Formats: sequence, C-alpha cells, structure tokens
Amino acid sequence: MTNIQYLAPTTLDEAVSLYAAAAGSARILAGGTDLLVQLRSGMINPGIIIDIKKIKELNSIEQKADGSFVVGASVSGTQLAKHSSFGKTWPGVLEALNLIGSTQVQGRASLGGNLCNGSPAGDSIPALIAAEATVNIQGPNGSRQLAVKDVLSGPGSTNLSQDEIAVNFIFPTRQLGSGDAYLRMIPRTEMDIAVVGCGVNLTLENNICTSATVGLGAVAPVVLEVEAAAEALVGNKIEEETLERAAEACRAVCNPIDDKRGTIAYRTKVAGVLMKRAATIASQRAEGA
Ligand SMILES: Cc1cc2nc3c(=O)[nH]c(=O)nc-3n(C[C@H](O)[C@H](O)[C@H](O)COP(=O)(O)OP(=O)(O)OC[C@H]3O[C@@H](n4cnc5c(N)ncnc54)[C@H](O)[C@@H]3O)c2cc1C
Repeated sequence: MTNIQYLAPTTLDEAVSLYAAAAGSARILAGGTDLLVQLRSGMINPGIIIDIKKIKELNSIEQKADGSFVVGASVSGTQLAKHSSFGKTWPGVLEALNLIGSTQVQGRASLGGNLCNGSPAGDSIPALIAAEATVNIQGPNGSRQLAVKDVLSGPGSTNLSQDEIAVNFIFPTRQLGSGDAYLRMIPRTEMDIAVVGCGVNLTLENNICTSATVGLGAVAPVVLEVEAAAEALVGNKIEEETLERAAEACRAVCNPIDDKRGTIAYRTKVAGVLMKRAATIASQRAEGA
C-alpha cells in the first residue's frame, strides 16, 4: 500500500474543490465500513482520502415545517435511530439501516455510503426507493438532484461522476394513512448480505391502497423500482389476491445471480414472499398512522 494523504475538510465547498483537484485519485470516506475493507483488501488504492464527516450539512438531520426530512449523506443508522421522529415517520427506512452489519457497524455506516458503494444488495436502497427519496449531489459544476432509483448504474457503480459528492437525502412529506416497511432474507441470522431485500411504501384510504412504491434489491445488477407491483396494489385492498399479483410482478423482474447464497429460483421465489410480507407490515403501519 502506498502512502495515503488524509484530508478532513469542514465545508462542502472545500471538499468539492479537493475532490475535483484530485482528478480521480481521491476517495470519499464517510463511515469507512466499505471503504476500509476495500482498501485493506487491495481492491482500491487511492492517493487521497477525503473524510466528509466534519461537514455540517452532511451530518445533520432536519425535519421541515411540511414534515419532510433532509438527512445528511454521512448520517449513520445509529444517529437516525436516536432522532425523535424520523423512525416514527419512516420506520421502514430505519429498519433497513438498522439491519446493516452489527451495532458497531451501524454506528459508522451512513446512508450515503450504502448508496454510493453501489451494491445491488445495499440494504437501505430498496427502502429509500420505496420512500421516493431523492439525493442532492454537489460537484465542481454545481448541484443536481437524482431520485435514489436512478443512482445505481451497475454492481459497484453509480451515476455520480468521479468528482461528485452526495450531500443529503430528501424524504417527502408523509400523507396521512401511510406506512413503509423493509424486509430482507439472509442465510444467517445477522451479519450477512441480502439474498433479497424488499421495501414497500403505501398509503391507504378507507382500506384501499391509493399509492404505493416498491423497491427490490439483490435480484438484478441494480436495485429495482417495481412499478408493476405498485400498480397491482393501487386501487385495491391489501389482501391475498392483491398481494399475489404484486408478488408475481416482483418475481417477473428478477434477474439475479446464482451463487452459494441463493439460486436464481430461490431468490425469485423469495422476492415474492418478501413483497407480500413487507406490504402487509406497511399496510398495518398505515392503518395505525
Ligand atoms: C461487518 C460488516 C457488515 C456489513 N453488513 C451490511 C449489511 O448487512 N447490509 C448492507 O447493506 N451493508 C453492509 N455492510 C457494508 C457497509 O457497512 C454499508 O454499505 C454502509 O452503509 C457503508 O457506509 P459507510 O458510511 O461506511 O461508507 P464508506 O465505506 O465510507 O463509503 C462507501 C463508498 O461510498 C463512497 N461514498 C461514501 N459517502 C459518499 C458521499 N457522500 N458521496 C460520494 N461518495 C461517497 C465512498 O467513497 C466509498 O466508495 C457491512 C460492512 C461490514 C464491514
């Protein structure tokens, strides 16, 4: 391993300038739970590491007057769990983050790191897609916003350019009668990578689903938004017949890898099962909202 320069800017402008000036030889460090593993295993060999945790807007959680949330990209699952209202508003997003690794890992692992690492099995991503979260991105040429569903471009890669930093996530205002949930399947009880992960967010009015969004992870090269599953839910009661149609839509989009942790057939079947269970939990939460 060659010498690495460690930089810890305290402003976003400074971080963006340093990152751009490095012209591809720097890596962003948030919690480091992916980055340090990649560094130690020789997968990456950056000349500079830019630690973004000292930048205020990347490390804050704000609830706006309209109920929407702005969550800094380097905020950890533990920080979000301690927030007084985030978990009540977005329990599915929080449960996704709180499945990541162990208590120790959750104290470091950030939303931005989970997304920017680009893994199709990243646990927060299906829940973020279901929440219709967007991410603010800053680069030397200014800022832009991307829906989380449009961020991943392939296993381990994203649509951020090499000089762009994810700044924060916007979670929209919650309608009354809404609920979300995230479930994943792993071969062990914990500390494993999702074989399938499913996030569902829906709204009920008089027991009828009036809107829904479904995110499905670990079954394709990128985490998917399954619009056909949402369409199967909307306009209907959340009952077995509806759920089966939504599950079939999830199975239909599966294009998973076949490995020792799950065959194609297994992952495809589990996608439908998790869809049904997550939608049921989300609807129970919506009823209680
Ligand atoms: C023991 C262990 C267990 C784990 N279990 C799980 C699990 O169950 N589920 C799961 O999904 N993951 C798991 N992970 C992976 C990891 O913890 C998560 O992906 C975590 O969310 C990464 O966040 P981080 O802040 O540590 O990212 P970092 O490691 O700091 O960064 C990850 C990548 O994103 C880039 N990056 C980070 N922040 C930004 C930003 N704001 N803008 C642009 N690029 C950025 C970095 O340069 C790097 O390439 C595990 C890791 C370990 C070590």
